[in-house]
Amino acid sequence: MNHRAELLEIVGQLRNLLCSYPQIGLEIPDLKREITTDASPGDISPVNLDSLRALIGDCQRCKLSQRRTTLVFGEGAPRARLVFVGEGPGAEEDAAGRPFVGEAGKLLTKIIENGMGLKREDVYICNVVKCRPPNNRDPEAEEIQACLPFLERQLAIIRPEVICTLGRIAAQSLLGREFKITQERGKWFSFKEIPLMPTFHPAYLLRNPSEERPLKRQVWEDVQKIMGRLGLKVKGNE
Ligand code: URA
Repeated sequence: MNHRAELLEIVGQLRNLLCSYPQIGLEIPDLKREITTDASPGDISPVNLDSLRALIGDCQRCKLSQRRTTLVFGEGAPRARLVFVGEGPGAEEDAAGRPFVGEAGKLLTKIIENGMGLKREDVYICNVVKCRPPNNRDPEAEEIQACLPFLERQLAIIRPEVICTLGRIAAQSLLGREFKITQERGKWFSFKEIPLMPTFHPAYLLRNPSEERPLKRQVWEDVQKIMGRLGLKVKGNE
């Protein structure tokens, strides 16, 4: 019997078993509720982004859930060669349910489209924490710990060729150690054997307009390294 037939048979048997529960005085368990409130990606291994999103459900795993409007899962190509990882949603993202749609997001989109010559929808964009930290504070260690397994699973599903982390928190979270963004950006690291390039967070560029030119130049250098790794042509280098 092939795997699919075997799986269908198991599901059928399980359904028959559950249907017989009321007859023997048992309650049918609310499996959907259990999965969406308690399960971690270690318990179940979603094989695609939709099932991972379903697994996260109406997440209450950390206190960021209490003040969020929308959980911002991430968006882009499910088979993207390049994944950008930010820190966590801001106010606009929380309202829209989409990552990087505010001012920092507009700058990131410019980097992707004007700088790299890609379309935003060709890459994948997500964050370390999926719910907005109040007043845009840094996410706390326990909030990162609660959410990181989902980012790890996202990356395992997409299997990009390169990860670009934006800012200190994203690099620190994926590398599992303190990270000095000003000293360590622009160097190659790896996350589970996927090459990882850390660069500045676009919001950092916006917050430091007097440093804009040198910061932009450094981001451009980092982006060029990524393009080289992906075999993409850098404009003006033909
Ligand atoms: N900053 C982030 O780190 N992520 C977003 O989605 C938006 C702003």
